[in-house]
Amino acid sequence: MNAEIIAVGSELLLGQIENSNATFLSSELSKLGIDVYHHVVVGDNEARLEKTVETALERSDLLILTGGLGPTKDDITKEILAKVTGRELVYDENTEARLHAYFAGREKKMTENNLKQALIIQGSYVFPNDHGLACGMAVDVSGKKVILLPGPPTEMIPMFERYTGPFLQQELHTKDQIQSKVLRFFNIGESQLVHEIDDIIESQTNPTVAPLASGGEVTLRLTVKGTDASENELKLEELKQKIVSRVSPYFYGEGEAQLHGIVVDRLQELKLSIGAAESLTGGDFSSTLTEVAGSSSVFKGAIICYSNAVKEAQLSVPQEVLTKEGAVSKRCAELLALNVKKLLKTDVGISFTGVAGPDSLEGKSAGLVYIGIAVNDNVEVFKLQLAGSRKNIRERAAKHGFYYLLH
Ligand code: ATP
Ligand code: MG
Repeated sequence: MNAEIIAVGSELLLGQIENSNATFLSSELSKLGIDVYHHVVVGDNEARLEKTVETALERSDLLILTGGLGPTKDDITKEILAKVTGRELVYDENTEARLHAYFAGREKKMTENNLKQALIIQGSYVFPNDHGLACGMAVDVSGKKVILLPGPPTEMIPMFERYTGPFLQQELHTKDQIQSKVLRFFNIGESQLVHEIDDIIESQTNPTVAPLASGGEVTLRLTVKGTDASENELKLEELKQKIVSRVSPYFYGEGEAQLHGIVVDRLQELKLSIGAAESLTGGDFSSTLTEVAGSSSVFKGAIICYSNAVKEAQLSVPQEVLTKEGAVSKRCAELLALNVKKLLKTDVGISFTGVAGPDSLEGKSAGLVYIGIAVNDNVEVFKLQLAGSRKNIRERAAKHGFYYLLH
């Protein structure tokens, strides 16, 4: 079954609101194993909405429309659907009763307009609205299914979760369970990762593998369908092992795992403390690390050594290093990591120095980053050339810091 999501509303086309309904519905349909082939946005215009529905009926098995079920004149979704399908609009008794009760309870007068919200397309299956007045509905149209849901997410989401989702599951006549596992990777681009495991992706049909890149990370979602939950889990685990063994240096966790959370866990396990010297990142590393509950057991503190004066006075970087090699240099990163470790009396010291941009610094181009990691008397420096905005470069640098701490 393939689906098309049609968001109705001129405010969406004007850029006044984001089409978050489509995002929500796509993600829910994918959990149900229904492929979404099209997202369409159309204004509150009769002719264009009619054409949109006709096109969708030709190419999709399931249409989900959101918006335009309200009482006002620009709410035309039901009327257009009635026209396209050649059906009547009739009053739904239950919804009508709810409307009367709503207005009676508030001592407000119900207008003819309001009653419009109890109209349904003849023969449709009704989804009650527990958070508003307009009901949703599902109607069969020559072998296709058309579902109408209200526009406001506060009404649409609970309606889908409570009524529409279970209705669709029943319609699918399937006992299949859909389970998935998300594998997380860092320091490898999406195309390279896909290239490395191309043959695995190609040969897989159940589970399937879907890559996604965001925030400098790549995730692979493995999704399996089958009636036996433990067999499904086994298949997912088998595929995970196959993939991870191929690209293990980049794999760092599963599901909602985050690099900084894993770093805190690892330091706790090893009973190691850490301190940071942050120039480039200006505190981003420490701020992210302290998002983790329990980070106080491993994180002692940081020196934000943004200026050369602070690097020299607080972290004993000799002036000669700063003038000759520069603040953005391997030597400076080394000294910052070693000296912050000493100053804060920690087991591990980490340092960040680099050019956030957009302008170059010390004749070095934006994106050049040195990260120092000192453990005992050993220090290792990682050099990176990152691309992107100032914000991206700083965030990526901090993330790389967490990544190198794990490797
Ligand atoms: P109402 O009874 O409130 O009029 P409705 O079903 O007629 O509901 P619309 O009038 O189309 O829906 O939209 C009402 C509000 O719902 C919009 O102003 C907007 O805030 C929100 N909304 C509509 N469509 C979307 C969408 N696709 N994504 C996110 N929000 C939406
Ligand atoms: Mg409306």
